[in-house]
Amino acid sequence: YYNENTIIYLDGEFLKAASAQKDLYGQSLHYGYAVFEGLRAYKTAKGEVKIFKAKEHFDRLKRSCELIHIPYPFNNEELIAATYKMLEMNGMEEGYIRPLVFCPPNMTLKAATESNIMICAWEWGAYLGEKLLRVATSSYQRPNPKAFKIESKSAGLYVNSILASQEAKQKGYDEALLLDMNGNVAEGPGANIFFEKDGKIFTPPPGHILPGITRATVIELCHELGIPLEEKFFTIDELKQAESVFYCGTAAEVVGWDSLDGQGFSKPWASSLGKVLQQAYQARVLETEFKREAQLA
Ligand code: PMP
Repeated sequence: YYNENTIIYLDGEFLKAASAQKDLYGQSLHYGYAVFEGLRAYKTAKGEVKIFKAKEHFDRLKRSCELIHIPYPFNNEELIAATYKMLEMNGMEEGYIRPLVFCPPNMTLKAATESNIMICAWEWGAYLGEKLLRVATSSYQRPNPKAFKIESKSAGLYVNSILASQEAKQKGYDEALLLDMNGNVAEGPGANIFFEKDGKIFTPPPGHILPGITRATVIELCHELGIPLEEKFFTIDELKQAESVFYCGTAAEVVGWDSLDGQGFSKPWASSLGKVLQQAYQARVLETEFKREAQLA
């Protein structure tokens, strides 16, 4: 993720990642009490470096902190400008960007009164790969919304994600699918889910998921392309009747599924609505034009 030349941003300064100090008494390290974001920078068709939906991501960082009472004395416009500068200092035109808000030394369980922010970036290909995913239903549920602010992208929440993806990989699958506390389909360890059935696209509503920014983009693209979309709760049995399924997230982008618990889907990915949305998403982040007719021809 970094080498001796990598520059990060820390509390208003740019410094070498290798020489940044690590505090072993922080509340964040001990209790998972920290908040993070994940963004991607793309080199657009015009040759510019653009961070996709930077404002939306930094606004979510702020909201995530507010939800779990971590102070956020930062200015998002300044942070976005600093992120562009950091990319330039590292000679990066594309890559994954990770802001992290963390808390200073404090061993109590009191809400933080101060916080720090660091931003780093590294080159990262499609997080879940380019191949269609073999997904397994997880024995782990997504956390109960009454036990946590699940809409906050909080570090501690990701132990659940690590357990679920480790279990799936141990069973020989590529990725996990987690249900919510009511037994409905929720999301992946780091991605939101959509499925296609009878010319329509479905996705779970907010409530038990991280409301993803890629998810919002896919919904926008459905509206723009005239693809009917419905947010509703659904079960694994209903998902198994889907014609095609995909995950989406900033790191994973749009990635189709091969199968769920070993059972495939009726439509080939190449002719699915998911594939249309995958191409439309690539066009959106690279700022190229996308014409659905041209794709289907
Ligand atoms: N759900 C979870 C649990 C995630 O970690 C992510 C990745 N941030 C997503 C969904 C997708 O969110 P986004 O599209 O904003 O990256």
